[in-house]
Amino acid sequence: MIPKYTLFINGKFVETSEIQNILNPSTGKVIAQTAVASLKEVELALVSAREAFDQGAWPRLSLEERKNFMLKLGQGILDQAEELAQLEMQNTGKPLKETTFMDIPSSAKSFEYLANNFINFLDPRQPLMDPDVQAELIYQPLGVVVLIIPWNYPLLIACWKLAAALAAGNTVILKPSSLTPLTVLELAKIIQKSGLPAGVVNVINGSGPKIGETLCSDKRVDMISFTGSNEVGKQILQYSAKNVKKLIMELGGKSASLIFDDVDLEVAVNSALTSIFLNQGQMCTAMSRIFVQANIYDKFLKSFVEKAQRIKIGLADNFETQMGPLISDAQRKKVLAYIEKAKAEGAKVICGGKIPENVELKNGYFFEPTVLVGVNPRAHIFKEEVFGPVVLIHKFSDADEAVALANNTDFALAACIWSKDLARAQELAKKINAGTVWINTYGMFYNALPYGGFKQSGFGKELGREGFLEYLGLKNIIRDQSVEDKPLVNYWYGF
Ligand code: NAD
Repeated sequence: MIPKYTLFINGKFVETSEIQNILNPSTGKVIAQTAVASLKEVELALVSAREAFDQGAWPRLSLEERKNFMLKLGQGILDQAEELAQLEMQNTGKPLKETTFMDIPSSAKSFEYLANNFINFLDPRQPLMDPDVQAELIYQPLGVVVLIIPWNYPLLIACWKLAAALAAGNTVILKPSSLTPLTVLELAKIIQKSGLPAGVVNVINGSGPKIGETLCSDKRVDMISFTGSNEVGKQILQYSAKNVKKLIMELGGKSASLIFDDVDLEVAVNSALTSIFLNQGQMCTAMSRIFVQANIYDKFLKSFVEKAQRIKIGLADNFETQMGPLISDAQRKKVLAYIEKAKAEGAKVICGGKIPENVELKNGYFFEPTVLVGVNPRAHIFKEEVFGPVVLIHKFSDADEAVALANNTDFALAACIWSKDLARAQELAKKINAGTVWINTYGMFYNALPYGGFKQSGFGKELGREGFLEYLGLKNIIRDQSVEDKPLVNYWYGF
């Protein structure tokens, strides 16, 4: 029997008239059916989240009580870690090794980290004092927060946002991607079991184009935290302008690795492979442009291509699989179209560029790791996000050229520098326009470190104290303490 999932509104699981099939991208087979929210369920979720904030217990609980709920949610994920890792693997096509060691434990840690730290983060700094007034700064929850999640890290990104929004005392409407709602809908069950007051978290799976505008323009929503494509991000900016909302936008990227000639070549090749091919290249921080210093370029390229061809493509449920399928046939078509366009603009495909021939994989959305060379910096693929296992490798002669190439894009999300000259790497890190720069490593996310891009990669931070504070309003309260209780304002008209 195919499992069925419903929405989660006001503490209850809610059926809808429309349902959708959820596919396993490794096999193209239906693995579940889920309810699909229409505007009717959006309205129910808005009412539920609003009431839970305005009249409910959640924003009024003591910080210790809030902390205990956060710990329960983290533990609830860990208690079901194996089942969730299987489900995330089936729904996204990520190899099981990734969902087991990355997605699920990191999701649980988001709650645990904030539970153990948010009370300290709320400590307001002492503002400058004027002898005639006393001022106090306090952080308060914003109200109803809409969280919109992409399909590439469905549970993890939901948990990053949910942990921060809840620790701040907000109520939430969570919208997963309609391609990958399953682990978030399982999380709804964990939330219900935890005893979190009804309406504090509402999960509505549904089509962004159908319900997005209503959800993101409604007056009852105070904040939207969005992770997804640049294109949809721009639409949400427009919707939210109608009633003015606090926003966090975590959008796409076109990140660059700079590889200098003093590196340990093997480490640089191995790491550069991971930095583009993990999760089939469907990472916002994928290092989809690799710039290599001219005198090691040939050696680097040869080794990179040889190893890229050895990456084991396979069904996601095999623990040995190193590269699973792309999320959908549509995504694979988009990747293919980018490669065709790159070729038309002069690029040469020196490995991959096609669907694997293995018959075992014929029903899934697999694609070979692809390396392009000879890409003109003016070509589309040099600047635009492909979101698939496609990398371009390009030469540079010196550090200035490398930085100029890295910055030659409208995105500014992340970068890597590989060099043994740490002083130079540190200097270059400041010149590269990106929210995160990794030196001699890649992909390390820490709950304590705020993360988020600049330019068209968006604004606002996720994670860390700064990421948490995004979900709060900072209020100042100013109290007169003038001699004889006569504030300056009293004298203005001279009465
Ligand atoms: P997407 O923009 O297509 O969808 C993201 C979410 O927005 C989904 O839940 C979708 O249903 C919803 N949506 C779609 N249309 C909408 C509308 N009109 N109104 C409201 N919501 C709408 O992105 P995707 O394809 O799911 O994810 C891939 C993108 O996400 C890539 O561009 C990637 O770089 C980006 N991403 C960024 C980060 C980051 O931290 N910067 C992290 C992960 C992914």
